[in-house]
Amino acid sequence: MRLTDLQQLFAEHGIRPNKKLGQCFLIDDNIARWIVDQAEIGPDDVVVEVGPGAGALTRHLAGHCRKLVLVEKDAKLAALLKERFVDLDSVEVIHGDAVEYDVRPLFLDGPVKLIGNLPYSVGNEILRNFLSPPSPVESAVVMVQKEVAERLCAKPNTKDWGILGLMIQERWEPGFLKTIGPQPFFPRPEIDSSIVKLTKRPTGSVSTHCPQVFESIVRRGFAQRRKQLRKNLGIDADAWAAIVDALGVSSYVRAEELSLRQWVDLSNLAEPHPAGVHAQSGDEIFDVVDENDQVIRQEKRAVVHAEGLLHRAVHVFVFNRAGELYLQKRSLLKDTHGGKWGSSCSGHVDGGETYVESVVRELEEELFLCPKESPEFLGRLPAGPETDQEFVEIYRTTGKSSAIRYHGNEIEAGGFFPLELVDRWIVARPDDFTPGFRSCFLEARSLLGAGMTD
Ligand code: SAM
Repeated sequence: MRLTDLQQLFAEHGIRPNKKLGQCFLIDDNIARWIVDQAEIGPDDVVVEVGPGAGALTRHLAGHCRKLVLVEKDAKLAALLKERFVDLDSVEVIHGDAVEYDVRPLFLDGPVKLIGNLPYSVGNEILRNFLSPPSPVESAVVMVQKEVAERLCAKPNTKDWGILGLMIQERWEPGFLKTIGPQPFFPRPEIDSSIVKLTKRPTGSVSTHCPQVFESIVRRGFAQRRKQLRKNLGIDADAWAAIVDALGVSSYVRAEELSLRQWVDLSNLAEPHPAGVHAQSGDEIFDVVDENDQVIRQEKRAVVHAEGLLHRAVHVFVFNRAGELYLQKRSLLKDTHGGKWGSSCSGHVDGGETYVESVVRELEEELFLCPKESPEFLGRLPAGPETDQEFVEIYRTTGKSSAIRYHGNEIEAGGFFPLELVDRWIVARPDDFTPGFRSCFLEARSLLGAGMTD
């Protein structure tokens, strides 16, 4: 949109640019089209545009994708966008704050592409809201202030390498695309802007770790940039000597000298997952049971599966105080159902173990949760082809987000979801879930509370 057209539009709608909302509108249509091209949007894509403003990017998106969600905080601009795109059913305008926007319903639409010329003051917060795991976003093209773009794409041993770059690069591959001066904006900003593309990294490409520990180590490590890393982390000298030896760095190393991979390795070495990393082994021993679920003997896991022998498993549903259910997205490194969403945790009952003992062990091994109350029995599934010959008992317990830790070997992401959303998600995209979770959820659903849709 040219400057004169924009000014006329604003005059007609009584709009004046609001500095507090970071309103600098793009008035060069070639640049707008170029930005949209970088997102490589196809007709099947679902796209979220944050801060669409008067629609500089939107006009190149609307009608070119399956669904376009516009999140705009300014009421007058949101109204203008509704008016402008009223004829397109595929465009949904949301008058809201993208920092607090609940991204979870987007999972119903499948992977989403994020695009936006972000308001400078809250650009980082918007990225955190949309890109922190579990994120429905598969790629993002965003314009941010140049200085932020440099930090997002930074490399070790530079002044820009820090918490923002590490927290994004842990899961996203950044590409610095272009810098634009103040000229093509109205009003003109005082600084340069840069466009960055973020693409989801494949699971395990950095090496697996516990994301919660990684974040805490990175934040502590960069607490004082000039200080030696060991002092920031408060690790004792002997433990530190072993860590720097394994990392191949000097014991006087500073935070900005470590690469992403070294930070990941450091977090694994400094705070190994308390339950260790549980590689599945064909030598694990399971109880083999008869058709009445009575133990008849024990056998190695590999034999149990190869011969289709009846055995036992548990699924656990963890709820938070809001009554939301924790779902885990299985790591692509798992040998079965990698990348699918499943119960909060689940696993085989070990030889000699009861179902409840197995629930308690799995909660600690997979999520590092040790609930005080005993798990509550919700239901059971008979063994058969649908359960891979497992008798399954389903339990519920409670837990807080802040208490949960998981290991990247096992889980790619996890989060609490309202039951009504899970009801709709399972219907809309059944293949997003493991068959085991679907059966257990269906079996136990009537006991879990309101909200089931038909
Ligand atoms: N996309 C438009 C363009 O390129 O011309 C406008 C970009 S302007 C830099 C930022 C836009 O984000 C403005 O429309 C502003 O009202 C909107 N905005 C500011 N804070 C927001 C927030 N927290 N959530 C959603 N939109 C916001």
